[in-house]
Amino acid sequence: MNELEARKLIVEIGKLMYDRGYVTSSDGNISYRLGENLILATPTQVSKGRMTEDIMALTDLEGKPLNDRRVSSEIQMHLLIYRMRPDINAVCHAHVPHGTAFAAAGLSIDAPILSEVILTLGCVPLTAYGTPSTSELTDSLKPYVEHHNALLLENHGVVAYGKDLWQAFDRLETLEHTAKIAILAKILGGANNLPKDAIEKLINIREKAGYLTEAARCQACGYLEHTDIKCSLDAETANNGTSYGAKISFTREELIDLLNQAVSLQN
Ligand SMILES: [Zn+2]
Repeated sequence: MNELEARKLIVEIGKLMYDRGYVTSSDGNISYRLGENLILATPTQVSKGRMTEDIMALTDLEGKPLNDRRVSSEIQMHLLIYRMRPDINAVCHAHVPHGTAFAAAGLSIDAPILSEVILTLGCVPLTAYGTPSTSELTDSLKPYVEHHNALLLENHGVVAYGKDLWQAFDRLETLEHTAKIAILAKILGGANNLPKDAIEKLINIREKAGYLTEAARCQACGYLEHTDIKCSLDAETANNGTSYGAKISFTREELIDLLNQAVSLQN
């Protein structure tokens, strides 16, 4: 895609994001990797619903301005993703209401309730809060970027990325739609999880098809709790997020033992 086409598409996707209520005011940002060290991005302080092709900023992969437009300070989050993922060429950041509600409630989107979401997007982990536009935020994203294509930013919003602008936007849309369904199902008494064997089948299909790698089984992925599939990554990078509906179980003996230990600690 050439630069003019990318500028046009960013305007179109910005309008879609605004019209669908994924952003308000000057929230959110969109970027595209034009070349090895050249990023086209939405400028700071602009409504994504009212952009024109000529206002876009250009930077290198370190964020150095390459034209007279000032890029959003949230660009560092985009640049981290481009540096860590050579397969990614577009990033969308937004404050989608349902997805951000999960992020504000301290929850990942990882309940195995929708077959196609398990197949394509996978679970969306919650990354720890970091002040927007600082290295706090990018540091908390680092363990997750490689293994997932969308992330929740605690008490802030969401970010989704893909091989091109449409894929990044589609992933943002799937994330928001999934969060909305999960919240609605909760109101109706709670969604039913898919059975264990169905989850295993979907995870095997998505890895064979190359939608997600085996590494995405880790990191706040609630699906694994319901299956016999084990995560092959070390435990250090796993479980950094708060799992939605996470359960732990004990045998009767273990529980009695634990209670006895608690009582003896009190005495
Ligand atoms: Zn933001």
